[in-house]
Formats: sequence, structure tokens, C-alpha cells
Amino acid sequence: MTKAWNYGAGPSMLPPEVMAQAQKEFCDFNNLGIGIVEMSHRSAEYMAVAQEAEALLREIMNIPEDYAVLFEQGGGRGQFAAVPLNLLPEDGHADYFVTGHWSRCAYKECAERYGKAILHECTAKNEQGQIYIDYSSMQVTPGSSYAYVCLNETVNGIEMFELPDTGEVPLIADMSSDILTSPIDVRRFGAIIFGAQKNVAPAGLTVTIVRRDLVGKARKYCPSVLDWSVLSSYDSMYNTPNTFAWYMAGLAFKWIKRIGGVSALEQRNIAKSRLLYGYMEQEPFYQLPIAPECRSRVNCVFTLKDESLNAEFLKQAAAERLIGLKGHKVLGGMRASIYNAMPLEGVEVLKDFLTRFAKAHS
Ligand code: PMP
Repeated sequence: MTKAWNYGAGPSMLPPEVMAQAQKEFCDFNNLGIGIVEMSHRSAEYMAVAQEAEALLREIMNIPEDYAVLFEQGGGRGQFAAVPLNLLPEDGHADYFVTGHWSRCAYKECAERYGKAILHECTAKNEQGQIYIDYSSMQVTPGSSYAYVCLNETVNGIEMFELPDTGEVPLIADMSSDILTSPIDVRRFGAIIFGAQKNVAPAGLTVTIVRRDLVGKARKYCPSVLDWSVLSSYDSMYNTPNTFAWYMAGLAFKWIKRIGGVSALEQRNIAKSRLLYGYMEQEPFYQLPIAPECRSRVNCVFTLKDESLNAEFLKQAAAERLIGLKGHKVLGGMRASIYNAMPLEGVEVLKDFLTRFAKAHS
């Protein structure tokens, strides 16, 4: 089999070393004679795997002790419900700073089902018609239970490189697509939520990192599997966790540590995104809808100036085994996702394809 380069937005490419190790251990873990997915989540051997993964995440993200780390299921969308169910009293209100598709989905989940969500539209267009984040519109409403942001909008390709000042109001961040792509100060957040399927592991694992004083306020009818206090008191083993994804997350955290940690990944991600955006900025054949200062380092969204070439572009890319370049269905266009596992070489290959395609069709 010849290698394909996978620019899909998630589930997406995982580090080849991690894939190879999982393959090796799949049928026989640690000479136990059974595979990793065949082990009880309560066995001493698996508990060690789970605890090591949590310890590694705490280490590479520098997570303070007064934050709980929960390994869950239900995906990012499960957490769109879990956030209000855990943090928003029936008669309370919360601010949603919307910068794209996923923060809007989170806002809707809260507003349509759980309570008063205050919508703040936080993007605008510059003179070139490019979308940028208007941080000045991120003002909390007095008495708010929390303020919600999505730090990297996977669909739109827009990333927040600044955080709003929310004072005492806890800032809740969806980091599904930018987790571990650059260092962050966990203390700036009340809670961080992320689905694992982009930078960490296969789909089916969701992680919540939450300040412990915010745990224990869930509504009475919050499903137990979404109640952070239940999950925390059971060490994320209230129900059977996704043992395989949790194990693979541990392998990915080890890989991150081995290659120099999150700061090293940030440098790599800056270099990769500069290469791609730098090329497209000077090639009018491609158009960039997002303003330079908030272009995502991991989801590079672009369009062809002549959109009638879209199908041909995707066909030729697939013929060269460059896959996953089609933009999200709500937006159209193209998107190259270049998460942590994507090496610079993968971006060079893509740039070479983009260059040849532009020349052939200009
Ligand atoms: N938030 C972000 C930033 C995402 O990219 C996604 C999925 N791509 C979601 C939430 C939803 O995640 P899930 O499909 O796991 O519910």
C-alpha cells in the first residue's frame, strides 16, 4: 500500500509511531496474552494505563492539582449539554461568544434546551472582506454563570490567539481541534473540553478539565454520565469508558513528551501553517476567507477563485492520494487540516500539489 496524506478534519491522522505501537499491542498487551481492547477497565493492568495517561496529560499541559481531568464519552456535542447542565442554574444566564460553527452549535444547545444563553456575535469583516475576531465584543453580562468560547473553529478555520478578560466569570473553552497544539495557561479557564479525535486519539473519547470548585453544581436531572461530580468521584469509571481511545491517548501524550512537549509542537505548527498560508497569500488562484491574525494553525480553510474547478481539484488530489481536502458541508470550499501528527513534509507535499494545480489551470 502506498501512503496517503490525510488532511481530514477528524477523525484524522495520528502519529505513525503511535499507530505502530497500538498495532503491536493490539492482540497481546504487555505479554498478558490478551489484547488491549479485551481487558477489563477495572483490571490492575488497565487502571495503570488509564492513570498513566492522565498523569501524562497533567504533565504536558501543566494542569494544576485543583483541576479534575475527566475521561468521558459523548463527544464535543455531549459537552455542549454538559456545560449548562453542570454550570448553569435554572434561573441563571451564560454568555456565548460566537466565532463560528461550533460555538454557535454550543450556544443553540444551551438556548434551545437548558436556559438563558446570551448570544454575542464576535466576528466581523475587514476591508478585504476577510473574517476576523472582534475581541472587543466579548463582554460578559453581570451575574453570568460562565462565558463560553471555541478557541479553534474547525469548520471556519478561525483561531483565537487572545483570551477575553471575563473577570470572576469562569471561561469555558472548547479546544477540540487545538488541544495540545500550543501551550496554554490552564488557570485562565474554568473548564476546557475537547473531543480526542483530532490531535489525540480515535473518536469516542472526550476530556473535560475542570476547576474543582465548579464541580458539584449539576442540575438534579443531569444524566449521571454527564455529571462532572459523578465522573470525578468514580475516576471516570462510572460507566465503561472507551478503553481503547483512552489507551491511545496515553500513547499520544507519551509521543508529545518524547518529541519535546507542547512548545515543540507549537513551533512545528507555526512553521507548517506559515508555509501553506504564505504560498496561498501570493497566489491569487487560491483565496483565504480569514484575516491573517486569526487564521487557524491547524485548519487551513481556502477556496479556489474559480469554484467550477472544485471537483477537478478534489479528483486530482485523490489521484495523488491527498485525501480529506473537501471543506465542511456547511461552508463548502476546501480545508486542509494539519494537526499535531502532520509533519512538515505533508504540508510540503500539499503545497507542491497546490502549485502544480494552479499552474495547470491558470
Ligand atoms: N467542537 C469542535 C471545535 C469540533 O471541531 C467538533 C467536531 N468536529 C465538535 C465540537 C463536535 O464534536 P463531536 O462530533 O465529537 O460531538
